[in-house]
Amino acid sequence: MSAMVTGGASGIGREVAARLRDAGHDVVVWDLSGGDIECDISSPEAVSTAIDRTVREHGVPTRMVACAGIGASGMLLAQSPEQWDRVLAVNLTGTWLTMRAAARAMVDAGVGGSIVAVSSISGMFADRDMGAYCVSKAGVDMLVKVAAVEWGAYGIRVNAVGPGVTRTPMLGEPERLPGWVEGLCERTALGRLGDAADVAGAIVGVLELPWMTGQVVHADGGLALHSPIDSYGQVQRLRQHE
Ligand code: NAD
Repeated sequence: MSAMVTGGASGIGREVAARLRDAGHDVVVWDLSGGDIECDISSPEAVSTAIDRTVREHGVPTRMVACAGIGASGMLLAQSPEQWDRVLAVNLTGTWLTMRAAARAMVDAGVGGSIVAVSSISGMFADRDMGAYCVSKAGVDMLVKVAAVEWGAYGIRVNAVGPGVTRTPMLGEPERLPGWVEGLCERTALGRLGDAADVAGAIVGVLELPWMTGQVVHADGGLALHSPIDSYGQVQRLRQHE
């Protein structure tokens, strides 16, 4: 059984690759560097070369996790079109190109399979200073739904897992922003930031659910559960201490 993981050289993708290996898959990691196959997922030519090599050397992957992505900040009024294009090119177009490459290989071989794309809770909620990122992940949420509809007839399931804030190299050192981590933990039902293993567990779980397709599952410890009327929560907490 072969499996491919984009962005598998770091963070969540690395943890997913390790779990799939432990489960007995022949895992092929695509990444800019440090993976089994070097590939910039935003390049159609690079993706085409990488899938040919994957199939030749490992067989058709029947499990695919599209984890590669880049974080980005930038206010809509200030962001350059070049920055915007890069975020969309990697997070959305790259996710589509790589999912499509895996699905095409499955269809041509007449085998079904399962794909999980990594989205974000930012695909559903508006984050100031992260417009391009939010739009890219909202696109991923819709991409998996259309792909699920189009590829279901071939026995291919397609879902997304949307992490909340997760400790990985992408997050950097969040403690540098005083009070931010404390605030996040307070808003998270399970009371802490997630780590790569938390999210990888959700991804590998969703990958194996046979009657689920076209769904977006948030793996965020309950961070995104709150109503935006947060001041109500603050009032409740203050009352508890009275
Ligand atoms: P990470 O930076 O540790 O890993 C991302 C990997 O993707 C890296 O190995 C990087 O080299 C690779 N990558 C980036 N651009 C690429 C490209 N053009 N082609 C090929 N590979 C490329 O980050 P992570 O936190 O593990 O992120 C994994 C996924 O989870 C991303 O899609 C990210 O948007 C998403 N996510 C992360 C968080 C978080 O808080 N860490 C929250 C929500 C969603």
